[in-house]
Amino acid sequence: MTSEEMAQHVAAICRDESIRVLPHSRGGRASKAHKVIAIRPVKSAITYAVALHELGHVLGPWQSQPRLYAEAGAWKWAREVAGIWTPSMEEKMSRSLHSYVLWAERRAPRIKLPEDDHEFWMLLGVPPEPRKRAPAKRRRRRVSVLRMIFGR
Ligand SMILES: [Zn+2]
Repeated sequence: MTSEEMAQHVAAICRDESIRVLPHSRGGRASKAHKVIAIRPVKSAITYAVALHELGHVLGPWQSQPRLYAEAGAWKWAREVAGIWTPSMEEKMSRSLHSYVLWAERRAPRIKLPEDDHEFWMLLGVPPEPRKRAPAKRRRRRVSVLRMIFGR
């Protein structure tokens, strides 16, 4: 699949689904309500993966669920519709989902992580076992101790 074909595939989906495309300088954004995505031009496997991921936020599953589920749903949809799925695209998906796990853990326990048997963890590419909430809590406690010492 050439990068030209990747760009045409994304353009065809946008045309068929009446989704508007806005330019974006880095990464991507999507609004399901407004049927609009903001992406970089599709010129590589990575920009193709990200474009499909953003389309997945409009057309994919789990989009009305909490953030981590929505992210996984958008990647699941992207991988299903992609004309090609390279190791670099898989890595992009895995890194992206991992960054959301780290984000959720920093906000623990307010953000709910998907259940151990949720497809999220298969998409992420690692079993749920290695994730721990403990380090985030410990770090938070250390910060508050410093606050007690230094008064801020
Ligand atoms: Zn996303």
